[in-house]
Amino acid sequence: MATYEYCCAQCGPFETRHPLGSAPSESLCPECGGASRRVFTTPHVFLMPKELGAAHERAEKSRDEPEVVSEVPGRGPARRPHPALARLPKPGT
Ligand SMILES: [Zn+2]
Repeated sequence: MATYEYCCAQCGPFETRHPLGSAPSESLCPECGGASRRVFTTPHVFLMPKELGAAHERAEKSRDEPEVVSEVPGRGPARRPHPALARLPKPGT
């Protein structure tokens, strides 16, 4: 048995258990009985920090749809020195 997630248009997400690989594309909402579509999510992403979940999703996606770049990524905008550095004593003063 595995847990599958569905989303009712009126009541929101809910989970049901089905034998592995036999989850129907629609399931009846336990609250209102309405037909609800299956939702595909990365397992347990809700337990991870948001950034880690995003990194996992990106890694999963790159298996089927790798990102293609046409040039080497730049270094981004030039970083300004931290303002506290201006208060440090200068050499020779
Ligand atoms: Zn419902």
